[in-house]
Order: sequence, then C-alpha cells, then structure tokens
Amino acid sequence: MSRVIGIDLGTTNSCVAVLENGQPTVISNAGGYKTTPSMFAITQDGKRLVGHLAKRQAITNSKHTVYACKRLIGRRFDAPEVQKSIDLSPYDIVRGPNDDPRIEIGGKAFTCPEVSATILREMKRVAEEYLGEPVSEAVITVPAYFNDTQRQCTKDAGKIAGLEVLRIINEPTAAALAYGFNRPGEERVAVYDLGGGTFDISILEMSDGVLEVLATSGDTFLGGEDFDRRVVQHLLDTFRESEGIDLRADPMALQRLKDAAEKAKCDLSAREQTEVNLPFIASGDDGPRHLSIEISRDTLERLVEDVVSATLKTVEVCVKDSGLQPGDIDQVVLVGGQTRMPLVQSKVAEYFGRRAHKGVNPDEVVAVGAAIQAESLLSDEDSVLLLDVTPLSLGIATFGGHFARLIERNTTVPVRKGHIFTTTRDNQSAVKIRVLQGEADAAAENDLLGEFVLTGIRPARKGEPEIDVSFDIDANGIVSVSARDLATGKEQSITVNATGTLSDEEIQQIIEDQELYEVALKEGEE
Ligand code: ADP
Ligand code: MG
Repeated sequence: MSRVIGIDLGTTNSCVAVLENGQPTVISNAGGYKTTPSMFAITQDGKRLVGHLAKRQAITNSKHTVYACKRLIGRRFDAPEVQKSIDLSPYDIVRGPNDDPRIEIGGKAFTCPEVSATILREMKRVAEEYLGEPVSEAVITVPAYFNDTQRQCTKDAGKIAGLEVLRIINEPTAAALAYGFNRPGEERVAVYDLGGGTFDISILEMSDGVLEVLATSGDTFLGGEDFDRRVVQHLLDTFRESEGIDLRADPMALQRLKDAAEKAKCDLSAREQTEVNLPFIASGDDGPRHLSIEISRDTLERLVEDVVSATLKTVEVCVKDSGLQPGDIDQVVLVGGQTRMPLVQSKVAEYFGRRAHKGVNPDEVVAVGAAIQAESLLSDEDSVLLLDVTPLSLGIATFGGHFARLIERNTTVPVRKGHIFTTTRDNQSAVKIRVLQGEADAAAENDLLGEFVLTGIRPARKGEPEIDVSFDIDANGIVSVSARDLATGKEQSITVNATGTLSDEEIQQIIEDQELYEVALKEGEE
C-alpha cells in the first residue's frame, strides 16, 4: 500500500512528514533541512527553482522569485490584502481573467495554485526520495482562518502537483493532534501559531482520542514578515540620519536589508545584541558607503510590541468564543518560527498565566499532525476523532443588503443547516442566492463565495413561496449550497466556486503545460 504524506504548506516554509511504524518522521530534504522555503523562481536562462535553491538567488533575481504566495491564494485581485502585497512584493502581481491575482514571471502569468503546486511537488519529491517509492496521496494543512475559496485553491494546487488531497486540515488542529499523540487524559489546549505571514489561534479540548475544536480565530495577514518590515524601517531611518542617504529607491539594497533584518531578528531571539553589516550598500559623492548598525533586543521589542499585542487581542476574542477563561487552559502549544522570539513567549505566558509546553518543535509540529491525520484516514483502528469548526460565519445576502447567517462561526464541521426564505415581489419567478462568508452585518462587507439563480418559482404573492436554502460544510471546510422551492420541488445547487478557483479544464491544462515543460527541460540539459 502506498504511503500518505502530511504536508504543512507554509507561507514561508513547508515541511513534510510521514508515519513509520506508528511513529511520525519529519523528512529532511537533500540539503539536510527539515523545512523547505516556500519559494519559486525562474532564472535568467529559464531554469525553474524551488525551495532553498530559489531562496539562495532571491537577492539577485528578486523580480523573478516568488515568496509568500499563500498570502494571495484564493483572494480576489481587488482584495486589500492583495493590494498590500503588490506594494510589498518585488515580483509582479497582475489581474487574472477570473479577477484572481496572478504572478508574472518572464512574460508568463502563473496562477497562485500553480505556484503553490511547485512547492507541493517539491515536498512530494522529498518524500519519495526518502521512502523510495512514489507517493500520490496527501493531507495538506491550511490556516484555520482560510475561507472556502482559499481551501479549494489549495486542493487545486495539490491536484496540479499530482497529489490526491485526502483531507485539508487546519494547521492549529494538526499541531494539537501532534501534541496530543499518544497522550491519554483530558486537556484543554491553546495553539498559538505565529509564522512568517499568518497568525492562528485555536482552543481545543482533547479527551482520549477525541479532539474537539472549541474556537478558532486569526489573521491571514500578520506574521514574522511584519516584524522584519519594522526592522527594515528602523535600519532605513537610522542610515538616512547618519549618512543622509535614502535607500528606499534602491530595490537591490532593499532586498539585502530585508534579508539582513530577518537574520538580525532571529539572532536577537538568542542574544541581547546584534549588528547588521552591509558593505557597499550605496555610493556617496566620496565613494562607497557601508551600513553598520547595532540593534539590541530591547530596540527590537519596542519596534514590534504593537504587532505582538495585536495577536493577543485576537487570542482574547477566541478564548471568549470558546466559552472558557484563560485560566481554564491546561496547556499552551507554540507553533511557527516567530514564536521563538522571547517577547512573544512572555506575552503569551502572561496572558494564559502559564509557560508554553516545551515538547514540540514549532517548525515541524504541523506537518507531524498532518501525517498523523493521514494515517488515521487510512486505518479505522485507533483513529482520532477530529471535530473541527468553521472559522467564519456563512450565510446569504437578503433584501436591503443584509447578511443572513445560516451557520455561525465556530460551528463543528461537517455540518448541514437550512433556512426558509421567500420572495420580495409579487409573481417573482427567480431568486438569486448570493453566498457569503464573514462576520459583518452588511452583506457587501463579507466575502462573496459564489452566486446562483433558482428559477421557475411558481407565480405567487410576495412572501408566499417557501425556498429552502441549505448549506453543507464538509470535513475539509469546503462549502456547498442548495436552494429548493418547496412548492415545486425544483432545486439548484452548487459547490461554491468563487472567482479564483480553477476549473477542471484549467487544472488539466496546467498539468499538461507542466509536462511539456518537463520534456523541454530534459532536452535543454543535453
Ligand atoms: P510559515 O508558517 O509562515 O511558513 P514559519 O513557521 O516557518 O512560517 O515561520 C517563519 C517565520 O519565523 C519567519 O518570519 C522567520 O523570520 C521567523 N523565525 C524563524 N526563526 C526565528 C527565530 N529564531 N526568532 C524569531 N523569528 C524566527
Ligand atoms: Mg506555519
């Protein structure tokens, strides 16, 4: 029987794990690293690079090196998060035909699932090399806060990479699975995950093989990169003050600064003081200028304190949603590279009144949980019962631009819920069902997942027809909606397919293109 792998497809780094004889193994890549940068690049001579190879050349080829694609996946081009990415990214983000953001490299516009697929394929390859056999199935994790479109796009990415995605599970849930693996008894656990680009918090209850998520929340646009940016600003300001030179207009200098800022930030997790040295960063009237700036841990903490506080505001909301008090939590599990920062650890400890659990590796725990889930999907014995929740409320737009919630956030999935709606005009023969996800009372402020029209409603006075609208959320968190006219029995349904997700034909086309490309590469290398 072939093996199912668990993949943590991170914004910044990805990780793959598998269960061997009941024990999880995190698989190292050829370079010996257990995590692989989620980066994709095309070189001047057309070579495609993924992971460490892509990262290594990012400074000199920044325009053709894609990172943090996960911040774009499943969003509409006009979404504020995408616009923010356009301002921040050295690579080009363009509007795709489905109003989705696409990444343009060397004249070709890649969809986000396509870019993510390059990383998934690399993780698949790493696993195959280790296992010595082909792998075709995987469990992939996503932030709990991902909406329906983002989940579907992640599934598409799996397909493009040649993987059947058996299940999409939430990263914090995966982390809790890994933490609770072979741990008897009853515990309430908070998982605080601060990665490079996203922040997630979940409160879970575990008791002998049942893992129930009580509440989840997060921010898909907050992470270690925000910390880096604060440090870059600080370096830019300090350099301008001392040298009178503004480096903001120099893309190459900015790339080097960004790299150095991240290194300094990581250094300061272990040391009180560090120095950023960037020789030949600019040239003045009297020759080259070098940047050399000391940063202390105190300075770093001052620069990012509000970012850390923002995560704790979200934690507060989540704990409240779970119906618990901070003191009710038995264990705090920290996930994500950014939680290595002492300030993050102390703020979280202060809030919960306890120090975090030390037994898990914050970089690997999500992939381990995905591998555990993969195994339990294969075998019925000993399998864990996972009761996850939907992170965002679901409903439809009603007359006057209101949002009618059918499923509240933090409802356990899978779930099916229905509600009867009616017409607003006499003899109205059709209704348009606009499916929304979000927390705002005004329909327009929520995410539109998709829309469809139910036609053939029997002529009647307004308010008389009974239209049963039901929502289904499956175990992957993927939504389908149906509407039925109770009088005629006529039904319309959709698996919600918002702009940005790819059709089966498009996916097939991308797979074929890839194959073409692979052939071209072999010829080129001869
Ligand atoms: P993601 O889940 O987004 O892929 P990771 O969990 O790999 O991200 O975390 C990446 C982030 O963690 C980066 O912003 C990185 O700078 C930060 N990070 C890694 N190691 C450390 C460290 N020792 N101290 C502080 N931040 C760190
Ligand atoms: Mg992560």
